[in-house]
Amino acid sequence: MVGVCPFHSEKTPSFTVFPNSQNFFCFGCEAGGDVITFIMRSENLDYPDAVEFLAKRVGVEIPQNGDMPNKGMSRRRVYEMNLEAARFFRACLFDENIGRAGMHYLAEQRKLPLPIIKHFGLGYAPADFGALISVLKKKGYTDAEMKEAFLCGISQKTGRPYDYFRNRVIFPIIDTTGNVVAFGGRVLDDSKPKYLNTSDTPGFKKGRTLFALNYAKNHCSDELILCEGYMDVVALHAAGFENAVATLGTALTPDQARIISKYTQRVVLCYDSDEAGQRATARALQIFADVGVEVRVLQMHGAKDPDEYIKKFGRDKFAGLLKQSRSGFDFKLSGVLSRHDVTLPEEKIRAANELCDIISRVYSTAEREIYIDEVARRLSLSKESLTMDVERMRRRHYKEKKQAEMKQAQVTAMSVGDRINPEAASSVQAAAAENAIIGLLLMYEEHRLAVQRGTVELSEADFFTDFSRRAFVEIMKLQSSDGGFMFSLLGESFSADEMGRLTRLEQARRALTENSTAVLRTSIEALRTEKNRITAKSADPISGIEQLLAAKRKK
Ligand SMILES: [Zn+2]
Repeated sequence: MVGVCPFHSEKTPSFTVFPNSQNFFCFGCEAGGDVITFIMRSENLDYPDAVEFLAKRVGVEIPQNGDMPNKGMSRRRVYEMNLEAARFFRACLFDENIGRAGMHYLAEQRKLPLPIIKHFGLGYAPADFGALISVLKKKGYTDAEMKEAFLCGISQKTGRPYDYFRNRVIFPIIDTTGNVVAFGGRVLDDSKPKYLNTSDTPGFKKGRTLFALNYAKNHCSDELILCEGYMDVVALHAAGFENAVATLGTALTPDQARIISKYTQRVVLCYDSDEAGQRATARALQIFADVGVEVRVLQMHGAKDPDEYIKKFGRDKFAGLLKQSRSGFDFKLSGVLSRHDVTLPEEKIRAANELCDIISRVYSTAEREIYIDEVARRLSLSKESLTMDVERMRRRHYKEKKQAEMKQAQVTAMSVGDRINPEAASSVQAAAAENAIIGLLLMYEEHRLAVQRGTVELSEADFFTDFSRRAFVEIMKLQSSDGGFMFSLLGESFSADEMGRLTRLEQARRALTENSTAVLRTSIEALRTEKNRITAKSADPISGIEQLLAAKRKK
């Protein structure tokens, strides 16, 4: 079964589900695996949590026996610690002495009503180097854990921990399932940096998270407002626009755009009216075009951001702006027209070229036609000539894209830049033999049993790359375990990306007709020969190019 991939931007489907083998693989981005890997990726969970997520859905209880592998701190522990920290920050804000400055800033300066401050769980980090640390220590968290969650830093001078957030109002960032995943802290004055954010942790990726989506997700099916800052979002929610979200102090990422597209039909971009904001708008339009969401652009005059606009002109005026928001194309059109004086012939040609280029990147034929009409009218040019230009550019883009794809395919084929199995690049033959062996072992119990019983001789030492060796060890470990072999269980030892690779290796074998023990033996033989050849070559001090040079010198 084939569909558009949920893990990368594409318009022609390359995401494939194989019902027989119960797994999936995307030929575009190489994501792959089974149902658990799918949940790990789509819900951004680690293995134990993905298992629990699925178990909950079918009403199965997972015994908590602590057998799950623990690479660093579990996400759950990070979230629990974050929740404690959020409670601490909130208590500080509402403390008459400690939180006075923070409360003054939020309630007086930014004029936020108390219910909104409470609704967002806003807090205050006191100007103290050890307040949060001592609270979390009492709850049993270690310095290392606090550092991993970016709640404290470690002083290079003294080696002692210090609170990361100090003298800032705190915005807890909550994911759509209700976990406190990170914090944003804003200074009370004009000092720098204005915002401090949690860096990426095992349980948190800035580029995959949106502020307030947890609140907005139930109010945004028709329309979602995307703005720049936490304060804009809070102000919009306070004014009754509960469909507003923001990125976390970074430019919009394709991941965020894809997440947004799961929740809404239409996005209204509501970035700052300054030049940086307008550039960010242009970039966001392109990113959303790739995921196929309708985008409109809100144009503000007399205020720099939505927070200021609502304070100056009120909520009704802002609702009016939302209604008047322009299409993404209108935004680009007026940008181009403002840069060129189209009364001059050569400027008009330049403007027409730029606009044709923009239109040529639009996917829908009907949309292109509408935009060509509009440009023809605005520049007094014929529709026919514009259409011809657009089609010519479309062919060029198509060719460029195909060339880029070809190049990418070649690179992948040569295993250059292979993140998952970097050693594969040093011997294409050895890697190919290993891939066949791993694929066959994944596919048939018969092969695994043959190796286990020794009817086919194969051991760790035979492998050339670390990845294949690990795969071999884990596969054989599972085969001899009580529960028997289950592909899913490999997820405990391999990352989602690595599971994708294993899936690809298995699917590659399934696509072939000849998968007998004889093929397994031949592949093992080929691997050994190739490995011996490489070892012999590296043992020989004069090899390859040096040999040639030596021969030349003799002459
Ligand atoms: Zn993909």
